[in-house]
Amino acid sequence: MQKLYKNVRKEDLHEWFDLEFTVPQGTVELELRVKCPGKVHLMLYGPDAYRGMLDKDKDKIIIKEDFASKGFLSGLIPGLWKIKVEILDVPHEMTLEIGLETKNAHKRWYAGDFHTHSVHSDGKHLVSDMVTIAKAYGLDFFALTDHNSYAQNEEVAEDFVILPGLELTTPKGHSNFVGIKRPFESFDYRTKESLYKMFDQGMDAGCFISVNHPFVGDVWKWGFDMKFHAIELWNGTPLSRNQGALDWWQEELSRGCKVLATGGSDVHVHDLSGRCFGRGRTLVLADSLSRKHLLEGLHRGNISVATCEKSGFVDLKIGDTRVGETYYLKNEKQLKLDIDLLMDEPSELKLYTNEGLVASYNLDGHELSKNLLIPVGHKFYRLELWGRNNTHAFFTNPIYIERQKMHTI
Ligand SMILES: [Zn+2]
Repeated sequence: MQKLYKNVRKEDLHEWFDLEFTVPQGTVELELRVKCPGKVHLMLYGPDAYRGMLDKDKDKIIIKEDFASKGFLSGLIPGLWKIKVEILDVPHEMTLEIGLETKNAHKRWYAGDFHTHSVHSDGKHLVSDMVTIAKAYGLDFFALTDHNSYAQNEEVAEDFVILPGLELTTPKGHSNFVGIKRPFESFDYRTKESLYKMFDQGMDAGCFISVNHPFVGDVWKWGFDMKFHAIELWNGTPLSRNQGALDWWQEELSRGCKVLATGGSDVHVHDLSGRCFGRGRTLVLADSLSRKHLLEGLHRGNISVATCEKSGFVDLKIGDTRVGETYYLKNEKQLKLDIDLLMDEPSELKLYTNEGLVASYNLDGHELSKNLLIPVGHKFYRLELWGRNNTHAFFTNPIYIERQKMHTI
């Protein structure tokens, strides 16, 4: 921990002075701890602007990209930060000590629920209660996707990420727009043209868009010619109700379309015998647990889908290429698939390509990694990990394979 010190004498009463420090590039969390026998006001300035004042009774400030201690504005901008100190009381000569700790970006997988409803539409839970339940079910974040509403996107939580979102809800199907608080100018889905315009606006605004439960319940009847990123492969219900989405996804991928998959519970009331938080989950590979980094991970396609908390975990890499990305072939005759695994019970690992299921492996439940050498010639690779009796599963998104583009001079 870096430390800043300032000796203060009795005659400094009511004086102001500055302390400066640097926040390095790549920092995702800043923590300041204050030790002071007297009373001071600390006013914090980022490189951009004033961030807030630490009151005399408090001793800690945390600033993250989209979270900050009460009284402070969030946002971590690298560069020179400043603390203006006002001396309110000096009982005797004293030393003011400010400890500084910064945490750096560290890429890892975060688990979230990509489809949730709150009291802002037809859900039954307050957002604060949803956060408590979601944490108990091992989630790091959820997307708040109330029906045709922006109000939920003003909600924030401490130590938990709520991704802003909404479920565009039309009589001919539903879609999630995640990451942006207000993606549309107006909700006009009277015609296919006006609906597709909403998708264009959502894309331009930076949303991550998934078509929800496309083949079950409120089936998607608008076609798939609009711009979107993903389909909701798993919608909080048994395999039988998600089979249509699985089949469609495999077919689209085989045709050469780059469509990603997400998972969500579609929870309205947390009910262990029905829909509940995290049964249907989306995992995102992100630099930190923040809205900004999760959205970046989503847009890179670094996403996997789990049906529930028992689904285990699979990660697939080809060299440095991660799921959702494209690997460009050079002159290889075969490719090495690096697979990381975690599971609680014997499971079946299945490898899919544009030719469908090409290999499956019975695992005893203790494997942590596996390497596969596969001849080139496929358009993509993706993995599924199925538990006993197909009660739960984990799906990676594909790694797409393309020939290295030729550069002509
Ligand atoms: Zn829906």
